[in-house]
Parts: sequence; C-alpha cells; structure tokens
Amino acid sequence: MSDLKSLIAPPVRNLAPYVPGKPLSELEREYGITDSIKLASNENPLGPGSAALAAIKRASEELRLYPDGNGFDLRQAIAKHHGCAMECVTLGNGSNDLLVLMAEAFLGPDTEAVFSQYCFAIYPLVVQATGARGIAASAFSPDHEMAFGHDPAAMARCVTDKTRIVFVANPNNPTGSWITEQPLRALLRSLPPTTLALVDEAYFEYVAVPDYPDTSGWLSEFPNLVVTRTFSKAHALAGLRIGYALSHPDVADALNRVRQPFNVNSLGLVAAQASLGDRAHIAHSVESNRSGMLQITQALARLPVRVFPSAGNFLLVDCRKPAAQVYEGLLRLGVIVRPLTGYGLATHQRITIGTAQQNERLIDALGAVLR
Ligand SMILES: *Cc1c(COP(=O)(O)O)cnc(C)c1O
Repeated sequence: MSDLKSLIAPPVRNLAPYVPGKPLSELEREYGITDSIKLASNENPLGPGSAALAAIKRASEELRLYPDGNGFDLRQAIAKHHGCAMECVTLGNGSNDLLVLMAEAFLGPDTEAVFSQYCFAIYPLVVQATGARGIAASAFSPDHEMAFGHDPAAMARCVTDKTRIVFVANPNNPTGSWITEQPLRALLRSLPPTTLALVDEAYFEYVAVPDYPDTSGWLSEFPNLVVTRTFSKAHALAGLRIGYALSHPDVADALNRVRQPFNVNSLGLVAAQASLGDRAHIAHSVESNRSGMLQITQALARLPVRVFPSAGNFLLVDCRKPAAQVYEGLLRLGVIVRPLTGYGLATHQRITIGTAQQNERLIDALGAVLR
C-alpha cells in the first residue's frame, strides 16, 4: 500500500466504486460504431415533458445566481402533492443524495443497517462508508414468485437494537420485485423505535400491480418512516439530479444539518416542479412503458431465457449464459444493457424498457447473440 492509500479513512479503504451503465459515447468510441442505444440505466426513453423543458429554458437565464438553498417552491409543491407539511420534505441531488444523507445522519461505527440480498447497490456502499455494519437479509429463492426479491420477514429478523436504518426498495432494482401492502406494514410495525425504515420508491409512477402501497400516506402512522422518490425515472430528469425524501420533521431536520447548502441546482428545482404538475406526460410515459414491457416479454418468451416479473421500467432477464459474454455480444450490436455479475447474478441482465423501436432492436440483437 502506498503512503497516500494508507491515509484513506478505514471505512472507505475497502469500498468498491459503484459501476454505472456504460455511456453511449464510450461504447461508440471503443467499438467505432454509431447509432447505438442505451437500455442500461432505467432512463425514460421519451425524455422530459414540454413543461419541464420550458421551465429549464426560462431558468437558464438566471444561472449566475445560486439556487434557492431551501428549495421553497418545489418543497411546497411536493408537500401539496402528498398532503403533508413542508417540514416533512427534504430535497436531494438525486435520491442517491438522500441515501447518503440518511447514512451520514444516522449511521456510524457501532451501528447497523439492514438491506436485502440483491438490493439496489448503493445501500451497502453508503452504509460501509460510515463505518456502520451492513447486514444483508436473505432474499426470496429463485423459485419464489418474487424471485430474488426482498423477504420482509427475513429483513425483520436481522434487526437488532443497533439497527438504525432498514433499506427497502419497492420495487427493487435490479430485480423488479415488489412488496405488497400487508407484508410491508408488518415489517414497519415490527421495527423498534430506534430503527428507521427507508422505503425507496424510485419507480413509484410506473407501478401498476395490485396491493402496491403508497407509503407517502403512512408518515403519521409510522414516525420512523422515510420515503424517497426521484425525478430521474418516470419524470426523465436523471441528468439534472433531483429527488426528495418525505419524513417526520425531526428526521428532515437531521438531513438538513448534513446536506450541502446548495445540494440541488436551479434547473433541477424548476424542472421538477413543472414535471410534478405535468400529469399527461407521466401518464404517457407510463403507458409507453406498459406496452414496451409487453412487447419485450412476449418476444423474449420465444428465446431460451427467463424473464422475471417487474413493477418498474426494466426487466431482469436470465439469459442462461455468462453475463459478460451476452453483454459484450449486445455491445457489438450497439445495444447497452446492464450485466448483473456484480450483484451475484452470473447469467442475468437488467434491461430498461425503451421506445417500441429500441425494444425491437434489443429483441433482434438478443436473439442474434443467443442463437
Ligand atoms: C435509480 C434509482 C435511484 C435513484 O436515482 P437518483 O437518480 O439518484 O434519484 C434510487 N433507488 C433506486 C432503487 C433506483 O433504481
């Protein structure tokens, strides 16, 4: 170890950086191809609505000014949207920022956090960075109807008096699995008052499964509940980095202490507010996702693969061949997906639902690669 490496704070020393989806520009540079498509980061293929774009254009005239560090207008709009007090709303530089702030505010050495096996990869990272102990609860088995999904009872069994946060992604990325109302309620009820439940609803707008709970309405029932949402997925504003948390005002106060004073940028603030009110564009995006998912699942039923049920805008697919091999085969055909070897899923890919045309490209390419 070089001297500088030995200076790294112990919890950070063994952190492996998050591996994001490959950017289109990188693929085209490396493979010398053009006209490629990215179905690797669960982005909305339709892009932002016209209201958000118009708001961005207006706000671009004032970029010399710092953003409103309190995000007053957007927080007020979010509070109205959910029927809660503004004091319950915390804005983040993407909801990823809120996961980091939660870890900074509530975790440290001699505390624990619980998440599920195959959960969103950011949870273990933000926990480890604080020196807290991360505990991975066993997921449902591959033959369960929610294969690889969170098992709320198994998660509850991992909670001790040292547990400060239980991370629940509903639906989960990369598995697409979800938890229905009753099991989630039972998990929250089982938690001691010394444990916060962070329910990450990044794909909320897309979900159309029975008994899916909207936990934003549960705050008064569960004071230790924190709900996160993002504008990166259905709202198609991933590039502007904006998300929010709903919580008890005391939790929001803690997050506000560790938050950078200007953690959310001025274009994100106005675009998010405009998009929150643009129900037609969200409905259009959700419908496009629904039909795209049907298009892909029907076509993949003819291939030697297993497609798992998903409540999000992506599919977990077991291609029954080494993930790197399938991934690279698709790259050569100009299609970027997400291999899941890093999640311990050796033959699985996560594929984002694209436009009808992009989905056709994916279907053809995957057929060619697996032939
Ligand atoms: C994409 C995603 C997020 C957040 O993304 P941001 O762009 O940081 O808002 C959070 N949780 C899950 C489960 C996700 O898939």
